[in-house]
Amino acid sequence: MTLKNRVVMSAMDTCYFSFNGTLTEQAEKLGGQMQLAGLPPHKQTILKVMNWFAAEVERVGVKPQLNTVVDDVYIEAVKPDVVLLAIGSEPSRPPVEGIETAVDGWNILQDIENLPENREIVIIGGGTVGCEIAHTLIEKNNHINIVEMMSSLSMNQNMVHRQHNQKVLDDADANICLNARVQKVEPNKVTYLAEDGEIQTIDCDLVICATGQRPKDVEWVGNLRSEGIEAYTLGDATATGNFQTATRSAMDVVMAL
Ligand SMILES: Cc1cc2nc3c(=O)[nH]c(=O)nc-3n(C[C@H](O)[C@H](O)[C@H](O)COP(=O)(O)OP(=O)(O)OC[C@H]3O[C@@H](n4cnc5c(N)ncnc54)[C@H](O)[C@@H]3O)c2cc1C
Repeated sequence: MTLKNRVVMSAMDTCYFSFNGTLTEQAEKLGGQMQLAGLPPHKQTILKVMNWFAAEVERVGVKPQLNTVVDDVYIEAVKPDVVLLAIGSEPSRPPVEGIETAVDGWNILQDIENLPENREIVIIGGGTVGCEIAHTLIEKNNHINIVEMMSSLSMNQNMVHRQHNQKVLDDADANICLNARVQKVEPNKVTYLAEDGEIQTIDCDLVICATGQRPKDVEWVGNLRSEGIEAYTLGDATATGNFQTATRSAMDVVMAL
């Protein structure tokens, strides 16, 4: 790669090319969502992989600019030829009354040293993230309720993981409400439309929202292009996915440059 001046914003990007640019990260360390993914029980290996990625970035000679938020002002100052936006995804919430009162699932993991204990907790969303937060909280003797609109938990995971999920939840006597649509969220109560068409409520101490993610700043790449800058999105910034889809999409874009 001999591009004069490139900016990459990312945690999981590929640096195995002659890199003549800048890797910029707003956080104080590389890793992005891997830092959260490696926190739940039995997932610490991910933190080792994350540290390996970060070490590889250094090993191939890239000196990341940490604690640096890239925005339009930064772009204007640096005037890059190419911008690779690997800015990831952010939690999204459905338009449900009171949903803003729920605590974000990412916040629970980010504050893992201060997890609630011995509480009655409702998790809205039983995808991978919701289930992993449930596992994390079960270890602190919390009783878990999951309200999930699909017919099964963690639909995107393979069968082995799903069976493991189910066993942990069964052993903890968790209350799993499938085909259930949340209607209203209050700080100590969740109201939902149950599978049988009845309106049900769960009283609780804490409501956690884990209803998925959406790509961050979706319009930014278009704005950059309209200013004549060659710009691409990579990884979750293109479509919310996983480690494999993120690294694969990064590779595809970089190979095509
Ligand atoms: C709790 C949890 C568990 C998960 N478990 C798994 C799993 O087991 N297996 C799996 O395959 N996937 C898992 N995932 C998904 C996986 O982590 C993501 O798909 C992957 O990290 C996406 O990588 P990315 O580099 O595209 O985005 P991210 O990891 O989100 O990285 C984006 C980076 O860009 C930085 N950034 C954003 N905006 C700016 C800006 N303006 N300037 C500078 N920097 C910026 C962010 O700080 C961040 O570090 C999990 C996700 C979560 C939240």
